[in-house]
Amino acid sequence: MKRNKKRIAFQVVFLNLVFILTALIIYRLLKGTVTHPMMMLFIFFALINGLFIYISFWFNETFYRREIFYSELERIPNQNYLKTLNKKHFKNDNILLVSIILSNHNKLIKVFDEMFFYKIMNNLYDRFKKKLKAKNIIISNNIRKKMLIIDGDNYLDSLNIIVSVLEEEILIEDIPIKLEFNIGYYLKENNNILTDDNIFFECDVASTYALNNSLKAVCFNEIEDIYQYDYNLLKLIPNAINDEELFFYYQPIIPASKEEYLYLEMLIRWQRDDLVIMPNDFIPQLEETLLINDISVYVLKKAIDEIKKYLLDGYKVAMSINVSAKNLISDSFVEDAIKLIKESNLDPYHFEFEITEGSAINFTEKLIKNMSLLEALGIKVSIDDFGSGFSSMSYFNKMPINFVKIDKEITSHINQNKNSNSLIKNLIVLLHELGYGVVSEGVETKEQLDFLLESGIDYVQGYHISKPLSYDDTKTWVEKNYNKHVIN
Ligand code: C2E
Ligand code: CA
Ligand code: CA
Repeated sequence: MKRNKKRIAFQVVFLNLVFILTALIIYRLLKGTVTHPMMMLFIFFALINGLFIYISFWFNETFYRREIFYSELERIPNQNYLKTLNKKHFKNDNILLVSIILSNHNKLIKVFDEMFFYKIMNNLYDRFKKKLKAKNIIISNNIRKKMLIIDGDNYLDSLNIIVSVLEEEILIEDIPIKLEFNIGYYLKENNNILTDDNIFFECDVASTYALNNSLKAVCFNEIEDIYQYDYNLLKLIPNAINDEELFFYYQPIIPASKEEYLYLEMLIRWQRDDLVIMPNDFIPQLEETLLINDISVYVLKKAIDEIKKYLLDGYKVAMSINVSAKNLISDSFVEDAIKLIKESNLDPYHFEFEITEGSAINFTEKLIKNMSLLEALGIKVSIDDFGSGFSSMSYFNKMPINFVKIDKEITSHINQNKNSNSLIKNLIVLLHELGYGVVSEGVETKEQLDFLLESGIDYVQGYHISKPLSYDDTKTWVEKNYNKHVIN
């Protein structure tokens, strides 16, 4: 900031010197003298001009400061503000870092609107400033995450104040609001705080843990061991890809109509020594890192190889690949995927991307844009596990999807009572009306299959048709059932 001011001052002096010099040259050319009253007037104007330039630079600077260092609508400092801090800001050797996830922010924005949420944030910021001591720094990391840097002797007191501020009822436009929140905190040494680009890393991990386990506040030190396990696991992934430790089971998804294709869903497994690790034990961790892109590219490459092998044997099968919403908001992943599919020279109908409903909830413009790119190429996109999350159908309106996969939990309610049957039947009708193909997963009995076929289902998948099978068993299954499709 100081260097900026010097530069501005230098620019002002320089501009004025040019101004005065030009005036002098003109005046000399006119054969006048420097002390002539006209010349004095000129110099006077030059100085006034300099003053104006300086004031306007100063205004610009203040404006620029607000733009760069504050989240504009919330009027809370953002992460850039951290860079303006220096050692003198902190008195203590250790600083408490707090990460707050406002877990009901989506619901609040949905019920009210974003502007209303910003008002809540502003109110929260004011109350934090009032109740905590002046040296506490509050940062808005993004709309749902706020960070606090607490430089005080009594951290526990500060934590209690934070919780009580968050628990207080907020009155905005006469409407009482209650925030839902999860806190992660971590005590960090003061001297590496300013050099560390990711100072909130540990408290972020703790707040995500608090959110996932419905806990109010979690200290990073309490979960460090669990985190270490995940961290070690993640470190092994690049080798697992290179050493071919990852392999697949395949589960058929069969069409109700003979005209449609047979799909094989690729379900990943990880062979570590004698142990087979199931996807639910490592995919969620990978989703928190960019490694999820490497995994999905690997799955796609495998899918291409296998489709080609099946084609050589005379079977036109399609492969269903589970992708994370995180993959689809990554431009580089989508570019790589499109490139791989184009280079494979395979017809795009051979590929289906399944996205879990939960991960698609926070869909962004980018997710929609990238899904449209895939769809434009002819790749099928489905929403997986429909009915297991909290999303509503209104989310889908803007999404370019071809299929909805009804979750196995819903399938399990078939024939449990009359209401559930009519609900499922109507759900299929509704999804058809919205233009989606409907797939039921977790079909475990003949009764469930009969009911679904009678209700107009398009595809079925589940233990009754086939359990997930090894590579060789899948080949045998395809040879035996390719022309049968729906098996009763
Ligand atoms: P999913 O996509 O919902 O996959 C279906 C899961 O349900 C599979 O578990 C499968 O074994 C199981 N299942 C299939 N039919 C039945 C049935 O009739 N009854 C019951 N009770 N269960 C059935 P799995 O293989 O453990 O996969 C778990 C999840 O891991 C998958 O859920 C998917 O979301 C994820 N996943 C699997 N492979 C990949 C992958 O390559 N990439 C990514 N990103 N995620 C993957
Ligand atoms: Ca799936
Ligand atoms: Ca599923």
